[in-house]
Amino acid sequence: MELAIIGGGPAGLKCAEVVAMQGIKPRLYDAMPSVGRKLLVAGKGGLNLTHSEPMDRFAKRYGGGASSEYWTSCLSDFDNNSLRAWALDLGIETFVGTSGRVFPKEFKAAPLLRRWVERLSADGVSFHMKHQLIGLKKKHDRFHLLFHTPEGIVESIADAVILALGGASWPVTGSTGEWVSLLQGMGIEVTNLVPANCGWEANWNSDIIESIEGCPLKNITVSAGDKSIAGELLITRYGLEGGALYQLGPTLRNLKDPGLMIDLKPSFNAQELADKIPNYQGNLIDVCISKWRLGKAASSLLKAFASSETHATPLSLAHALKSLHIPLIGPRPIAEAISTAGGVSFSELDDQLMIRGIPGLFVAGEMIDWEAPTGGYLLQGCFATGKRAALGACQYLGFKG
Ligand SMILES: Cc1cc2nc3c(=O)[nH]c(=O)nc-3n(C[C@H](O)[C@H](O)[C@H](O)COP(=O)(O)OP(=O)(O)OC[C@H]3O[C@@H](n4cnc5c(N)ncnc54)[C@H](O)[C@@H]3O)c2cc1C
Repeated sequence: MELAIIGGGPAGLKCAEVVAMQGIKPRLYDAMPSVGRKLLVAGKGGLNLTHSEPMDRFAKRYGGGASSEYWTSCLSDFDNNSLRAWALDLGIETFVGTSGRVFPKEFKAAPLLRRWVERLSADGVSFHMKHQLIGLKKKHDRFHLLFHTPEGIVESIADAVILALGGASWPVTGSTGEWVSLLQGMGIEVTNLVPANCGWEANWNSDIIESIEGCPLKNITVSAGDKSIAGELLITRYGLEGGALYQLGPTLRNLKDPGLMIDLKPSFNAQELADKIPNYQGNLIDVCISKWRLGKAASSLLKAFASSETHATPLSLAHALKSLHIPLIGPRPIAEAISTAGGVSFSELDDQLMIRGIPGLFVAGEMIDWEAPTGGYLLQGCFATGKRAALGACQYLGFKG
């Protein structure tokens, strides 16, 4: 029984590992000259492997087309403790940071990837690089795969196939999202791939941005729609970046006129702030900026975005400081995003992540219609769906054979 795995990111590699442990020697194909290129990019940020929070909260982090009950079940196949134990088994010690995020002690992806690929090869996984999948058909119960390779078009046959082709962010790593038209051509529903965990563009006045580009806004609360997040933002030339904004992405995408409401002093109410200025001389806004100890970025934003009526009293200005509205234009291009929302629709999939209408064809990882915030949830989701699809493929092949 032949199993082909297409895509050598964390999801595809996990699939290969799981099937190899069941005694199947899969062929793993990837369009790039080497596997795990996006994992290596993630390593540049320290490689946040997973999060340490309890699984009931963990499962609720996932948005997109599946319920949190599905995620609870899928993550129970391979949870955050399993991921840490797996890394340790590869000789990579992990630790829990102050925010609950889990990192390798070395903050690097390369040693983990190297040892993982070595172990997979030893376990019988064969790697076929520079093989870009361009065609996929099921004929007489077997899959016919067409690859674009440096030697020309190559055909390969398999009894079951797992696709783990990633999203469409950072296409330089191989995740181009070009698979969408291939799958849609097979009648598979794919929801639009859109940028997630990404920056948003704002219409900064050029005078302001010259002075505050690169400045952080710390200890703030950021809201969009009915969702509020405590955290940080970073002012960039084109708009804003930062963890608080990334978490609001799904909400912002659904707003007709996207924008943020920022509370620049969440630990005080407006009256408490006004009480710090019982009387004053000179320009009120400058006095407030000084008494409220506002940094450079907060001061500039207050001056630029608080309407002139709010400059009348300390209390009205305090209200403006606590509800500064920043209109946004739209997300940055998907190529720059950390992850992708949208993908193969869950309505096409059974519990084992097999395409219902094409028995033997499975999907795993970021190419499925789910999204999650940064914090290790993305990789954990790829590992868990990878294991789920791989076990499904083994069961399918066993059933066939
Ligand atoms: C800058 C950055 C930092 C990140 N940091 C973190 C982090 O710290 N923690 C975290 O949890 N997540 C992080 N992520 C996200 C995480 O890396 C991804 O969610 C994860 O890599 C997705 O895994 P995947 O296996 O689904 O897809 P990918 O890793 O995208 O792999 C897909 C593979 O499929 C191959 N492929 C695509 N199309 C074809 C085709 N037609 N034929 C053959 N092969 C094909 C590609 O070459 C690629 O190797 C980060 C992402 C970025 C961009």
